[in-house]
Amino acid sequence: MSMIEESEARKRILEVTPTGETESCCLSEALDRYAAIDVLAQVDLPGFDNSEMDGYAVRAADAGEVGVRLVVTGEQAAGADLGLSVGEGEVLRIFTGAPIPHGADAVIMQEDVKVVEEEGGMRRIEIVEAVDEVGEFIRRRGADVCVGQKIISAGEKITPGRIGLLASQGLGEAEVHRLPRVAVVSTGDELVDAGAELSPGHIFNSNAPMLAALVKSIVGTQAGLFHARDDEAVLRATLQQALDENDVVLIAGGVSVGEHDLVKQTLTDLGVKMDFWRVNIKPGKPFLFGRRGQTQVFGLPGNPVAAYTTFLLFVASALRKWAGAADERGETMPLPQVRCNLGERVDYSQGNRPHYMRGNLRDEDGVFMPVGLQASHAIFGLSRADAILRVEPGMVLELGAEVVALRLP
Ligand code: AMP
Ligand code: MG
Repeated sequence: MSMIEESEARKRILEVTPTGETESCCLSEALDRYAAIDVLAQVDLPGFDNSEMDGYAVRAADAGEVGVRLVVTGEQAAGADLGLSVGEGEVLRIFTGAPIPHGADAVIMQEDVKVVEEEGGMRRIEIVEAVDEVGEFIRRRGADVCVGQKIISAGEKITPGRIGLLASQGLGEAEVHRLPRVAVVSTGDELVDAGAELSPGHIFNSNAPMLAALVKSIVGTQAGLFHARDDEAVLRATLQQALDENDVVLIAGGVSVGEHDLVKQTLTDLGVKMDFWRVNIKPGKPFLFGRRGQTQVFGLPGNPVAAYTTFLLFVASALRKWAGAADERGETMPLPQVRCNLGERVDYSQGNRPHYMRGNLRDEDGVFMPVGLQASHAIFGLSRADAILRVEPGMVLELGAEVVALRLP
């Protein structure tokens, strides 16, 4: 199977990535999920003409001059509409959010009047700052949203603001796409879990927690964790279970060309159809993608930086599509692009594959500064990075060169 380019790999994955079925979910659980249908407004916003201020509902024509006195005939607070009216020469005390009484066509702020108590208990106000125009400080029915208007489109992410909008429509639930069930399978005889004794030759398993965290940050699901030793029977049983129970299976390690890299053959034996293997990037070359029925299988290189990078370049877009995202930057760019200037000279004239460097984007001066050891096993630099930069083989980039980095989530 021949090596393919990064964009081709992403295209081939997204082409065959399904979108999860739809389900309804209560608003409190809908955050960061993707709308499955267009939502049309059922309620005008505002729902009725109401006051934008605490003040007095007036007839604009009565309050156009400073010094005029008007009689206060009652009060309308926010809440039940009392059905009051404002006649000529009259005002009603009113509060923010209260319905505008009949006859009134403006609100004057309480700061713009003087209250004058008069004999017989009659209360008047005196205009200090005149009303300039009809409609002043009235929030008109439907000015924000009208019934029938599309307020959310299928495929849009449910953000906190959109939860507020749905709630303003009286909706307690949202129609969203089901989230994929995801498995993370780590492989390797050298790996031990946190808390275990490290004997010579062993390392702690960092990919499993890291990939689970990436899955969570992209689609919000908790991945199931599996581990298999580099043993055919164990690997086979583990992968079998992961494939049976999940929509997406991420395998870390064992996809390279060594004698102990058994993943590819085992997947084939289990009936997984290989779409491609090996992508022209560094780190991340041995990346593999295959399918068994609707289940997608991603084989990520074991080196943590390679696993991380290939997850963001290839798996993240697929998971978002699975979860129903329509606004995929997708094939062209899986991460937000940021124009910046290089903080140091980069000589990649000896390079043979496009290289993703890890670095920091300095917001104050728009500089991308490479960080840490730029090697596929070096996780410290990765942990400090907030952006990656693709550098083409043969390139020499001078200090200050204009580049486009990709912001990490
Ligand atoms: P592999 O792709 O299995 O050949 O592994 C490549 C490198 O990544 C080796 O140095 C492995 O020890 C390392 N590696 C593989 N899996 C993990 C893991 N889950 N956590 C940390 N390092 C790993
Ligand atoms: Mg291995």
